[in-house]
Amino acid sequence: MLTAASRKFVCSVPRESDDEVVELSSLAMDPGGSGKTRTEATRIIRSNLQLLLRLGFTLVAIVYFATHSHPPLLFTRLTAVTVGALFFMLFLFFHYLPKRRGFDSTLIQVPFLLDITGSHLAWLVDPWNPSAMLMLILVTAVGNGAHHGYKNFRRLFKITVATAPVVYLLRVYLIGFHPAALLFMTLAAFVLIYIYVLIHNIDILQRRAEKKAADLYIANQRLNQTGQALQDSEARYRSMFEHSATATALIEENMRIALVNAKFEELTRYSKKELCHQKKLTDFIHEKDMDRIRRFHYRRQALGGIAPTEYECQLVDKHGNIKHTIIRLSIMPWHERIIATIVDITSRKQAKAALQKYNTRLQELAHKFRQSETRYRSLFENTGTATILVEKNLRISMANTKFTELTGYSREEISGGKRLSEFIERRSLYRIRKYHNRLKDKGLPLPDDYECLILDKSRGLKHVVMKVHTPPGQKSSIVSFFDITTRKMAEAALQKAHEKLQTLAVCDDLTQVANRRRFDEFLQREWSRLKREVRSLSLIMCDIDCFKEYNDTYGHQSGDECLREIAGAIKTVIKRSVDLAARYGGEEFAIIMPNTEAEGALKVAESLRMAVENLNISHKASSVSPFVTMSLGVSSLVPTHDLGPEHLIRDADTALYEAKRKGRNRTVGGKGAHGFTRKIIRADNLIRLN
Ligand code: GH3
Ligand code: MG
Ligand code: MG
Repeated sequence: MLTAASRKFVCSVPRESDDEVVELSSLAMDPGGSGKTRTEATRIIRSNLQLLLRLGFTLVAIVYFATHSHPPLLFTRLTAVTVGALFFMLFLFFHYLPKRRGFDSTLIQVPFLLDITGSHLAWLVDPWNPSAMLMLILVTAVGNGAHHGYKNFRRLFKITVATAPVVYLLRVYLIGFHPAALLFMTLAAFVLIYIYVLIHNIDILQRRAEKKAADLYIANQRLNQTGQALQDSEARYRSMFEHSATATALIEENMRIALVNAKFEELTRYSKKELCHQKKLTDFIHEKDMDRIRRFHYRRQALGGIAPTEYECQLVDKHGNIKHTIIRLSIMPWHERIIATIVDITSRKQAKAALQKYNTRLQELAHKFRQSETRYRSLFENTGTATILVEKNLRISMANTKFTELTGYSREEISGGKRLSEFIERRSLYRIRKYHNRLKDKGLPLPDDYECLILDKSRGLKHVVMKVHTPPGQKSSIVSFFDITTRKMAEAALQKAHEKLQTLAVCDDLTQVANRRRFDEFLQREWSRLKREVRSLSLIMCDIDCFKEYNDTYGHQSGDECLREIAGAIKTVIKRSVDLAARYGGEEFAIIMPNTEAEGALKVAESLRMAVENLNISHKASSVSPFVTMSLGVSSLVPTHDLGPEHLIRDADTALYEAKRKGRNRTVGGKGAHGFTRKIIRADNLIRLN
């Protein structure tokens, strides 16, 4: 029986329920699972100790029963010892089996049950003095709890409480309602209540402890995290300090350098070793600047001002090179140290100088441009020509005074959105556009100037020459207008005068038929042409009969009038535009008829003669007729190389002479080129052969 009781100390604890508190520090010291091995080792030692204890208790129980005066209640002493030994073996079996074979953890609960059953049996077997056994139960329960943790103890206690009434009833049944049993019951109840209160208190303590442990754990974690964060932060700041793009130094008392970063080394060309605790910050500042700074400091101090934290000064490096820098000082009062950051502004200074130079140049240029712009504006304004600046869409963006004068519009009206096309007269615009399109179609370049009419504000037309110039690479064009209205008017007048002169040059003043010069030119031209064409050319020479007498009779003025009337008659007869009637000289007329053969010429000559006769201008002194008459000589030939126009004149003149000789007031045909038969045509239309 005692073996069963002793087993309580030996019972194996399942790994899951083994609440070992692991020290965080130990984990930290021994990371990576070696702790697990250590725990395992501890458990094996404990198990073995339990075994020894149980064995000891078994032996004590055997000795107790062997020496006790009362026999056991249910069994003999031998049976009790045998059952105890069996329990012990069963315990051993269940103690090792799950460990060795990896059985289900529920099997591990069996030693507990065995422990309790063993305890109850021990109680049952000793009917007279259960107190010792009761103590044993208590000791086993407390011992188990102490060994295997509080949770196991509670579990054990619960099982004991649950089984206790059954055992008690069994005891009453077996040994009756014995006063010892009553005493035992009361004692057991007290013990149970006491243990319950104890457990309850332990529960509270446990919860508090757990909470404290959890808080501690969290605090621990936080501390760890904070420590880590601090470590990280320190590393970060160190890295930032080290790799900062600005030269930075930690300055101790007397401006002595305590710590520098790589940039500072780079700036001063000294190594960290040479700098830290060796050099002063002021060692690098140029003497000139140092003096200035000192002076400035003293003055400030005298005035009661606070020292500035930023200085622009020159820094001399190890090799004597001068660098322009800005030194900033940040004072750390709690450390009595200064952090100095030095910004190298040499390149900035250089850039600034370059920028200044560039700015000056730019200003000069701007000034020049302004001057130039003013010059060009003045030029544009005072060019003497109406000029405008036209954009790609023909919109006028600028106009000078001359243009406003030319068009009558104000500058604002023009620049306020007027287009060039609005100023050009409709037909001129149409003509220019058509011309443009034609040139574009042919791929020819557009002309620079156009003669056109422009409309002014009062819808008046002005004749201008429009000159367009588009500077290369520009979108706007400069358009200048040359007012040629006056010139055009002068030209027109000149043209008129010229025409008049032309007329005068070729026209006979008195009779208004062509003069002798015109006659000569015309004859020469027609001679050449008809020579090429091999066609006939006819000439009629007319001479007024007895005109000297007419003058003598009626006076020269009447003579002139007579000449005018006769010329008028000639003009009415000569209808073909190609024919030319001219005053050959004095009272002689000549008619040139191109493409006319002798026959036709004779007919015309006769018509002329009749026309003059029919004028019925009385001529009392005439030996031929009471009226003014005319004699005509006609010549017709095809011009050839061997002949000249004078041949035609001579022939016609000969014929005329012949007409005079024959009695006047008649027409006589000449011999022509080859001496054809001369014809005499009389006033009575009788054509008689010579
Ligand atoms: P014939 O019948 O032979 O031709 O006689 P004719 O008097 O006409 O001949 P002649 O050639 O001798 O005379 C020409 C005259 O014509 C001389 C001149 O008085 C006159 N005469 C010539 N030119 C002009 C002129 O321009 N005006 C006037 N009124 N008379 C002119
Ligand atoms: Mg004459
Ligand atoms: Mg005459």
